Amino acid sequence: MNPALDPISARLLRNSQPPGSLALMYHSVAPGSGTADWHYAVSMQRFRAQLDLLQGEGWRTCQLADMAGAALPPRSMVITFDDGYQDNFAAFEELAKRGMTASWFVVSRDIGALAAWQDSGSPQLPMLSAAQLREMQAGGMEIGAHSHTHRRLTQCDDTGLVSELTQSKATLENLLQRPVTSLAYPYGAHDDRVVAAARVAGYQTACTTRTGWAQAGNDPLQIRRLSIHADDSLSRFARKLAFADNAVDWLSLLNYAKRQLLARLRPARTP
Ligand SMILES: [Zn+2]
Repeated sequence: MNPALDPISARLLRNSQPPGSLALMYHSVAPGSGTADWHYAVSMQRFRAQLDLLQGEGWRTCQLADMAGAALPPRSMVITFDDGYQDNFAAFEELAKRGMTASWFVVSRDIGALAAWQDSGSPQLPMLSAAQLREMQAGGMEIGAHSHTHRRLTQCDDTGLVSELTQSKATLENLLQRPVTSLAYPYGAHDDRVVAAARVAGYQTACTTRTGWAQAGNDPLQIRRLSIHADDSLSRFARKLAFADNAVDWLSLLNYAKRQLLARLRPARTP
């Protein structure tokens, strides 16, 4: 067992009986150890420990495209990376070394450049190059779209929405010489109009930032994900998997247990 994992979290994960598959969302993987500066970065040391835990606990990695059809068996996991930061190349090598796969969602305008969209608090990191994306695909990874310019799709007019969805798809297909059918909505922002437009544009699977079991609801264009953050200890990571939720601090879990208990104690209603 990994010494960084507390025994209760380890037991919660080991004894959990997941009703479905999971998807994890990463952004930057920062070189080094400890807690990365940016909330959406995970240090390489922590990333490696998380992969080792997944393997040790018998999780099997798939790609987002594999969620287009029937529900995947429990302990199936799709590891996803949003934006396409260049520091993810080392993460790809770690995955490949372990025989694991993952799905990347790339902002097509910024390939090989600096992230050019403006978000408060997010660093302007260099992005993966075309050659790196090709190498990752050749190494068994899935490359999907994350819009062309990282706009919030729910705020685009119809023309802008179609353009964001189709330009990113065409750019990546040209670069990778294969169909691109997976998408991650920037900021997770989606509604019925965005989902319908994604379908018309030819996407078969798309992921959101809603938490829960990945294929809950059965719509392959609204796949749920858990977000992995800089300060997630290995124990918190394990609890996220066990509960399919981001809110897994002990107080939240106590409240969860209390609600379960109250529901059980409530007298059953007569039909
Ligand atoms: Zn993004």
